[in-house]
Amino acid sequence: MLTEEHKQLLKEKLEREREVLLTELSRLGAQNPANPADWMAAKPVGDEFGADRTDNAAVIEDMHTNNASLNELEGRLNNVLRALQKFTNGTYGVCEISGGPIEPERLDANPAARTSIAHMRDEHLLS
Ligand SMILES: [Zn+2]
Repeated sequence: MLTEEHKQLLKEKLEREREVLLTELSRLGAQNPANPADWMAAKPVGDEFGADRTDNAAVIEDMHTNNASLNELEGRLNNVLRALQKFTNGTYGVCEISGGPIEPERLDANPAARTSIAHMRDEHLLS
């Protein structure tokens, strides 16, 4: 059973992770004004397109690398935001599949976990 005190610690952990992710995302890209959950990759600083095809390929390669990190960070941020929203809704610590409690040790390992241990294999099925 998750105590209120434990829940508060997990909330603080999520809030710190949100700050770290937002800092990292702002470094790599910019938030889409039309959709705050979406982040767009910025062209790496100092990388400019020019006449040299090889150089341009390297710039594009950097943008792809950036975009992959951006997508991963964006996914993590959206998970963290979803988890924080549950504190407002009063559903934090509740398995989204069974409606049962999520084990405190699972939340310690991943405060943004959406399911209990029994249902973690099906977490990817959630929208
Ligand atoms: Zn469950």
